[in-house]
This record gives sequence, C-alpha cells and structure tokens, in this order.
Amino acid sequence: MTTLPAFAALDPTHDPAAKSWLASANGHADFPIQNLPLAVFRRAGSAEAWRGGVAVGDQIVDCAALAGLGTLVGGAMLSADALAAVRLASQPTLNALMAAGAPARRALRHGLFAALHSSAGAAVQNALQRCLVPQAQAQYALPSQIGDYTDFYTSIHHARNVGRVVRPDNPLTPNFQWLPIAYHGRASSVVVSGTAFRRPMGQAMAPGEAQPAYGACKRLDYELELGFWVAGRNAMGEPIALAQAEDHLFGVCLLNDWSARDHQFWEMAPLGPFLGKNFCTSVSPWIITPEALAPFRRPFVRPADEPQPLAYLDHASNRTAGAIDIQLSVAIGTEQHRQRGLAASEVSRTTFAHQYWTPAQMIAQHTVGGCNLNAGDLIGSGTISGPAPTEAGAIVELSRGGQQDVLLSATGEVRRFLQDGDEVVLQGWCQAPGAARIGLGQCCGIVLPATAP
Ligand code: CA
Repeated sequence: MTTLPAFAALDPTHDPAAKSWLASANGHADFPIQNLPLAVFRRAGSAEAWRGGVAVGDQIVDCAALAGLGTLVGGAMLSADALAAVRLASQPTLNALMAAGAPARRALRHGLFAALHSSAGAAVQNALQRCLVPQAQAQYALPSQIGDYTDFYTSIHHARNVGRVVRPDNPLTPNFQWLPIAYHGRASSVVVSGTAFRRPMGQAMAPGEAQPAYGACKRLDYELELGFWVAGRNAMGEPIALAQAEDHLFGVCLLNDWSARDHQFWEMAPLGPFLGKNFCTSVSPWIITPEALAPFRRPFVRPADEPQPLAYLDHASNRTAGAIDIQLSVAIGTEQHRQRGLAASEVSRTTFAHQYWTPAQMIAQHTVGGCNLNAGDLIGSGTISGPAPTEAGAIVELSRGGQQDVLLSATGEVRRFLQDGDEVVLQGWCQAPGAARIGLGQCCGIVLPATAP
C-alpha cells in the first residue's frame, strides 16, 4: 500500500457526508464545510478594518469578530492553537498566518470545521452566528502584502500553441521539458478580482512595417492561471528541497495574467516579458488550502518517451500526489451581455491536472539557486491549456494568433482579441468520487479604454 504524502492525507474534515448547521453550506457548489477557504474582506462601502474571513455557504466567518469573542467563549469553541490562528487571521493581511505555515492553517480548519458542524452545541452555534457576514455584503482586498510575484510557464500545450505563433518550425524551446520556466513579475499591479484596468499603451511592431508604432494595445489577451500563495520562508542561499516544497504552499487561487500580445512579442527578445505583462494581474479573493485540495490530488506522470525530471525535481511524494485536478473555465462577457442580462459566454474549459510541472516542482526550481521566498509571495502557474483546442487558456490560442473568430455563444458576437468593455470571468472547482465538490469562486476583470499620457 502506498503511503500518501501529508498534503494528500484525508481526515474527517473531508467526509462528503459531513453537514453544517448553517443551511447554505450544505450542497453549496463552492463553499461547503469541506472547503473553508480564506480571504481578506470588509463590508462593502464601509470604513471597517480589513480582516481575514473564512467562506462557508453564502456567509463569511469574520475572524476579527471571532477573535473578539474572547478566551471564555472562543476557548470553549476552539483549541488554543485554533484560537491563535484565528487571531493571526484577524489582521488586515494574512501574511502572519502565512508565515505560521501549515500547523496554524490546519488548526484553524479543524477548529472551524467542528464549530460549523451540525453536531456543534447550541452555545457554539449562537456565538458563531454573531460572527457571520453575508458574502453578498462583502468587498475583498488582496489577501497578502505581496513582496514578490513570479509567473511560471508550465503548460506544454500552451507553450506549443503560442510557440507556433512565434516560431512555427520550432514551437517548443529545448529547455521546456527539463525545467519549469518563469520570469519575475511585478507585484505592484496585482489586483483583487473585480478591479477594472485600462488597456495599456506601448510600442509594437506590426508585420511588414519598417519601424514600431506607439499606441493602445491592439492584441489584448487574458491568461487562465492558478496563483500559489507562499507559506513560511527560506533563508537566502538555502534551497527548498522538492520533498519539503509543499510545506511552502499556503493555498491556491485563480489568476489572470492579462497580456498585451503586440507589445509583448516585440519587446521580449532577448530578455523576456516586461510591459506586455506588468499593467495588471488579477487574483480571486479566496485562497483554497492544500487541506481542502487533498481529495483532488493526482499522481504526477511523465510519459516514458519524454525527458524524466532531474533528481532535484523528482521525489516519491511528487510522483504519488504532486498534481492537482482543478477544473477550470474561461468566459467572456461584453456590454451586450450586460444589457441583455446574459451570463458571460464560456469559451474554454480544462483542468490543471494537464500541467507539465507541479506546484512543488515550481517552488523547488524557484529556490534551487538560493533565491529566498517569503510568506505572502505570489507564484503564477503559467497559462493552463489542455491538449484539445477547446481547452486553450488564452484567446491568442483560441483565435490561432488572431486569425480565427472566437464565438461568444450567448450573443453571437465574435472576438479575436479583447475589446474595451469586455469582462473575463475565470472559474475553478474540484470534483471527485467520494469527495464533496469544492470551488475556488471567480476571478473577474473588465477592460477600460486606454488613456494616452
Ligand atoms: Ca502568464
């Protein structure tokens, strides 16, 4: 019998039959009590302090209110470790909770699971009721003060699809199958879902032209990605071994790496992405923990006829359960969708299980040269595209480099790149036999017209 790594271990918090006394949690598509993701929030339109919260059903458990119940009530409800974690989560960012790592996060999960479970006593239910804020009344902030942001490039299908646009005869670079490729991104322009941004100005070289032109981006794109929030830290010069890499994964969110393709493809030789990527990156507010994702872990399998990972990127725990089956979709909404009250039109659907490298391999690679990661850092997975054309995670792939129309089914409109007023909606969820469905929620952003300086 194979022993599963700790990040894939199941316990009573994964019981699909577990129910909450909070009716909206039971059967909730995203936030049943088996999920319990974290975000930073306050009541919309208020001047309240930002603080951490935990989603359950259509409510948020307000960690500051819970910490404020005091030791008498809180101590009767939660263990000392769980109460300490709630206090860390009651701050305006989750950096302190992220620094405390897996033990604090697990104590919080187990404490809240018990308090929200249908078997919780009346006193616990009454006390916790006073700490609930409806999600419909909430606004969200970034969950951490992000020190550094790195974006990987780890989908072989995306690399081949985009590579064909740039290098038709040699789409895959020789390093791709040997190491998880990345570039250091820009933390200052990472925003929480729902934040609008301006179409970027910049320089591009149109085909057949003698010199580049300055202007608004003409090939604006999105990238369907996952974001990984870093837990704990490693000292500079001390790499994180693959076997310990998951200890540094605090949780997962949706991430949209908005991309100005015309600017990007002109500027990125020979040094890599710069202005084509640094004007906006959107993340979903809720962080799904490794504990919640445990039932959806999958083996990491590299086909026998492809290069096998070098020893420092290989470990039994990564082979056994390094991959995660997170289902993902992309939808585009337009002004016409909004006027007619229509939901955004889905344009693709795939799973993170196709990714060529795992989160643990990305963390190990990031630090192998001695680079230090800090709690609250953000790591992007790179665009997530599956093997089928309908599984592409960017519109440049769906439109074959802008050569084909992409149909928006709800209105019959077509797109080759994004237009002003377009909204992109990323969604993620996990389903598996014997497990309760959980969701990541949504990551949304809307394109505003450019303003020239
Ligand atoms: Ca990207």
